[in-house]
Amino acid sequence: MRAHVWSLPMTTRFRGITVREGLLLETEAGWGEWSPFVEYDDREVAPWLRCALEAVSGDRPAPVRDRVPVNVTVPAVGPEQAHAIVTRSGCETAKVKVADPGQTPADDLARVEAVRDALGPSGRVRIDVNGLWSVDEAVAAIAVLDKAVGGLEYVEQPCATVEELAAVRRRVDVPIAADESIRRAEDPYRVRELEAADVAVLKVQPLGGVRACLRIAEDIGLPVVVSSALESSVGIAAGVALAAALPELPYACGLATVALLEGDLVDESLLPVDGFLPVVTPSVRPGALSASRAAPERAAWWEERLRRVRELLG
Ligand SMILES: [Mg+2]
Repeated sequence: MRAHVWSLPMTTRFRGITVREGLLLETEAGWGEWSPFVEYDDREVAPWLRCALEAVSGDRPAPVRDRVPVNVTVPAVGPEQAHAIVTRSGCETAKVKVADPGQTPADDLARVEAVRDALGPSGRVRIDVNGLWSVDEAVAAIAVLDKAVGGLEYVEQPCATVEELAAVRRRVDVPIAADESIRRAEDPYRVRELEAADVAVLKVQPLGGVRACLRIAEDIGLPVVVSSALESSVGIAAGVALAAALPELPYACGLATVALLEGDLVDESLLPVDGFLPVVTPSVRPGALSASRAAPERAAWWEERLRRVRELLG
């Protein structure tokens, strides 16, 4: 097994980072991506490595669909820009960031109205709060935004904790999705136990791979939205493999994030066409690999991290 450490600048600052780093694993059976965020400790990133090892083992569940619907993400921008982002995307589902610190509820309202206008009446509008509302704020804001767009598809992580999600869910009719509340493999079970969400957002790397996510999806009995951890197209392909293998896929997935990276590692980037990503086996371009090679000290850091976490996995 070979390891290649890469580094790609981001087109927009996201999660406070401007450069995305990671490691590609290569075997005869294929490619896998290991790109846990640099601040995570070894124990936290072990499932991320399990995901990459699964990918390079060549073990992929059989797809039940050959393409996967994805949403466009609208950051906390003004209404004109929001309108343009949605129109340009070709997607029929838009996820709109709201509750951004430094903005007002009126800013959120103007943005979701612009998105509805851009999508037309048949498009779906979901909002992502990233846990920033209190329960009372959530109940009030959801009522306003739901009415403004003629029905929100769902609200992602309105509050920070699972208990608060459960409380909001009991007071509103709009479906609630759990995102930040699902970080580790045991979290979805707690979300289910507290009846805190109608939808589970699953990411293949933190949850330990495609097979592990399929098991979780079956166990929790909630509809799943597959989302990315801002991977290159190699990592996104694993998310697409999960979305393609789920028996039911009622919602568009949050896998259209490759455009946040400047450059990529494959021949054909997994960018949405008409709101869909194809189900593909990633084919890494050697030229792209050398063009995005990390600086020697960063490569050494990742190789050492890989050595330690492989040891942890045993
Ligand atoms: Mg989210």
